[in-house]
Amino acid sequence: MLTLAELFDVVRHTPLYDSWPVHGPNLPQQPGDPFWLRLPTLGAGQLACFTSECQDCFPSGNRLFLSSGTQGKPKLMPFTDADLQRVAELCGRFSLLEGIDANTRSMVLLPMASWTVGRITMDGHRKAGAQVHGVDLHGGVTAWQQACDAIRPTVISSTPSVLAAWAPYYSGPKLTLVETTGESLLESERRLIEARFGAFVYDAYGLTECVVGVECAVRQGFHYWQDSVYVEILDPHLDQPLPTGAMGEIVLTSFQQGSLPVLRYRSGDLGRLAVVPCPCGRKEPLLYLHGRKEPNLALSRGVNLDRSLLEGALQAWGYNHLRVVWKGTPQSPAAPFLVDQFRPTLEISWRVDANTKEPSVLRRYLLDQFMELAELIHEGDLDLVLLPQRVGVS
Ligand SMILES: [Zn+2]
Repeated sequence: MLTLAELFDVVRHTPLYDSWPVHGPNLPQQPGDPFWLRLPTLGAGQLACFTSECQDCFPSGNRLFLSSGTQGKPKLMPFTDADLQRVAELCGRFSLLEGIDANTRSMVLLPMASWTVGRITMDGHRKAGAQVHGVDLHGGVTAWQQACDAIRPTVISSTPSVLAAWAPYYSGPKLTLVETTGESLLESERRLIEARFGAFVYDAYGLTECVVGVECAVRQGFHYWQDSVYVEILDPHLDQPLPTGAMGEIVLTSFQQGSLPVLRYRSGDLGRLAVVPCPCGRKEPLLYLHGRKEPNLALSRGVNLDRSLLEGALQAWGYNHLRVVWKGTPQSPAAPFLVDQFRPTLEISWRVDANTKEPSVLRRYLLDQFMELAELIHEGDLDLVLLPQRVGVS
């Protein structure tokens, strides 16, 4: 991975950071020190504008990949061969943590051409010693099953929406594990995939701009390696750090990329850092993901639901540990192959305690409070999934 000094050496020569205080003698000696906290943060829009306007500036040896466009339009990101090696090394650590090894035969079912995640997932599995088969998404469920019959994988890696669409039709032996990546994973998708593929799902968290971490066997948060990414939790509206354990915006600095350095990048995701060690015993820090920073949930048919109104209504009823996730599209280039199987889903999870009620009671309350939800459900444009959980939502 890049050292902090190497990262700042690249930053100083990158026009994106021309106006940042990185050209004088007072540079951070370590992430989080007073000089570090004087740096601004980088918004997604700033990075996207820079990469689209400056793609001619990147050296010809760079490879440009498109992001998946999960949160808006796809973005271009440049990588050198050395960048890709560092990302592959990190994905190799993910694979080893999950349990992928030389006995693994893996089927990586992801877009293989321009989308970064297909390439780096295959590289990571290879680093862990697996026999790896890359399969593109063309052809839909029938083609995926045929490829699977030929490969006979022990591990499958794909997006949650692809696996959830395939799950009802999957015919094959139980897998050793399933890896999901590339888009947010609903808890209901996790349960469906685990039931039909016969193996635990390990979710990975990362952006095209910065790969972050992976779940351990406890599967409640993402472990990350501090030499590859520095994670800060900041006030969503200010550049102000929040106390450890508080929920805020996840801000990322990558020690993986030298082509276009990613420094204090606002991910647009909300999360918090664990304050107690993970029960798995690993030393790497644990990051809990809570969803997007968006104030409104843009539901089907142009209906906007005010997230704070929804969460306020739930909290007024004693639901204080919540995870609200809206998934309106499959969020990946797999979308054309999922037309019939995908249902827009609003998923609400909460931690069960003395104040919480049965899901059916909560459903009636929510549909009374938010008539627009009832109408969308009636028209078949929304699945409302209510999932009480004993642990995990915090
Ligand atoms: Zn753990």
